[in-house]
Amino acid sequence: MILLDGKALAAKVKEEVRAQAALLPRKPGLAVILVGNDPASRVYVTSKRKDCEACGIYSEEYALLESTTQEELLELVAELNGRPDLDGILVQLPPARHLDESAVLEAIAPEKDVDGFHPVSAGNLLIGRPGFLPCTPAGVMAMLDEYGIDSAGKRAVVVGRSNIVGKPMALLLLRRDATVTLCHSKTPELGELCRQADILVSAAGRRGLITGDMVKEGAAVVDVAMNRDEAGKLCGDVVFAEAAARAAWITPVPGGVGPMTRAMLMKNTLLAAQNRQKAH
Ligand code: NAP
Repeated sequence: MILLDGKALAAKVKEEVRAQAALLPRKPGLAVILVGNDPASRVYVTSKRKDCEACGIYSEEYALLESTTQEELLELVAELNGRPDLDGILVQLPPARHLDESAVLEAIAPEKDVDGFHPVSAGNLLIGRPGFLPCTPAGVMAMLDEYGIDSAGKRAVVVGRSNIVGKPMALLLLRRDATVTLCHSKTPELGELCRQADILVSAAGRRGLITGDMVKEGAAVVDVAMNRDEAGKLCGDVVFAEAAARAAWITPVPGGVGPMTRAMLMKNTLLAAQNRQKAH
């Protein structure tokens, strides 16, 4: 069994981003907007700032009050859209409850959509055009590539159908010629489907959902989820020891998909800067 070491690969990706960013006439710039004081979101925003520092990316952070109105937030996004020194804009999700998440995501200029959540980015992915890929599934694909796990002609099963993880994950595997099954909470016979997977990606956010008997011998198992156990320790959907006994490759949690997601945001910001500096 080989551990898919997302931490090591993320460090390599960030180093590549740093080297490429240094070649640009102007530093890439990323603006991160956080509305409210959700502690988990706060942690994510801080790590994004640190990643930017490590990659030679200029970053700005907007920590807005919980009481910020939709109009105020849209005004800020519009202002950042017009800033020539900023290549990427990211609104940390979920935004405060009274805000309309889709309206906010749609307000971001598609050429600055480094999270890849804008309908234009989603549409480009669907029809196979180049564009920003959502960071988590892009990170999973980078990990499969790094370890020489070819999805062409393989059976891939994705558990979870969210717009930010499950659906784009299925599309990326399809783009790479896997035969893809996309499962969700209404899928009967989840175990049977998972057992057929050469590549099994779980993004349900349900601890203990994927047990050892649901893993095919020799499969690649990617655990996207970030759950907490009773002791508050980070864990995924997969019962690791059981699954590891059958899998040929498996991601740890933490240290698997999480660091790759962060690294791909840096890569998308670099890409946005390269595109924009070419265009101007
Ligand atoms: P989400 O929007 O809550 O979606 C969860 C999906 O899982 C839904 O499609 C849901 O089905 C499905 N699901 C829930 N219970 C299920 C079950 N018992 N059997 C089969 N499918 C089930 O979550 P998300 O934003 O995609 O995130 C998923 C997980 O990944 C979370 O743990 C999140 O923290 C983690 N995550 C990690 C990273 C990272 O960088 N590692 C990044 C993003 C998210 P329905 O559609 O039918 O409800």
